[in-house]
Amino acid sequence: RMLFEALTENFQRSLAALRGLDKITETNIEPTLKEVRRALIDADVNVKVVDILLAAIKEQALNMKVVKGVTPGQQFVKIVYDELIRLLGGDPATSSSKAGASPLPALAESPTKPTVILMAGLQGAGKTTQSAKLARLLQTEKRSRKKVLLVAADVQRPAAVEQLQTLGQQIETEVFIPAMVGTGSVTALEVATRALDYAKQKAFDFMIVDTAGRQVIDERLMEELQQIKRVLSPAEILLVVDGMIGQEAANITRAFHERIGITGAILTKMDGDTRGGAALSIKQISGAPIKFIGVGEKLDKLEKFYPDRMASRILG
Ligand code: GDP
Repeated sequence: RMLFEALTENFQRSLAALRGLDKITETNIEPTLKEVRRALIDADVNVKVVDILLAAIKEQALNMKVVKGVTPGQQFVKIVYDELIRLLGGDPATSSSKAGASPLPALAESPTKPTVILMAGLQGAGKTTQSAKLARLLQTEKRSRKKVLLVAADVQRPAAVEQLQTLGQQIETEVFIPAMVGTGSVTALEVATRALDYAKQKAFDFMIVDTAGRQVIDERLMEELQQIKRVLSPAEILLVVDGMIGQEAANITRAFHERIGITGAILTKMDGDTRGGAALSIKQISGAPIKFIGVGEKLDKLEKFYPDRMASRILG
């Protein structure tokens, strides 16, 4: 396994200390655990999450049996790697990144049309862009080919509505905008309600609702999201998180999850050089799976999330 070997190389210095040992003890594992800790902190994993992870790794390391032909160091790296995969929602026994698998992760669907997907997150996280990317994927993926309605529920920022309209045009997707409800002041709740009627009438399979975002977590926004959730009963509530945000991902996830209960997340801007520690924080805090990663500004840059790939990226 190439990947595994690359990982082993990164931890070589501390693993050298494990060489020749026939038993792992509290004392001789300490320098290695410190190095793993540093690697995780470097990858922007939230400190509290790191401690939970390290406790699990330590326990397994102390209990590991010596296997013939495998050094304690190699065994230790496997423990770290497998534990990361598990924490990211994967199963270490099966490689999830099999070629040829569907590019769509499992998404909940409602028994009656439309299935509503509510997008939430801070401003700038990439909500509008991922809404359009997801619409494109649902429309074009050959096992899916769904009829999708995009809904611009950000009534505060006309620019956000225009942005979604522009993106909708690029992928030939209809966009429901506040002006379709009426002129004057229209609330996000009114837009959501009317969009749902419209989607039912026109037999849309999916309705993706792009909500307002604020720069910071804000009480009014949370209330608005709760109301929208109540009237739409979304099958999925996806939290969009900027992958570059690092440690802050933990607080953002907690705030949104407590108020609206997310069913999944999308980690964006993963085309940058971030190591992706935010993924671990999101999963650890909400328990909800990360479903996609955004890997560019273009509308075809949305990929299914693979726990094993992310585990190796985090370990660098
Ligand atoms: P919103 O405020 O949450 O709706 O965020 P936007 O969708 O407007 O995105 C904010 C900025 O991030 C825009 O310039 C997008 O083009 C950019 N963006 C969104 N997703 C990605 C991504 O996966 N990678 C990169 N590099 N940029 C992205």
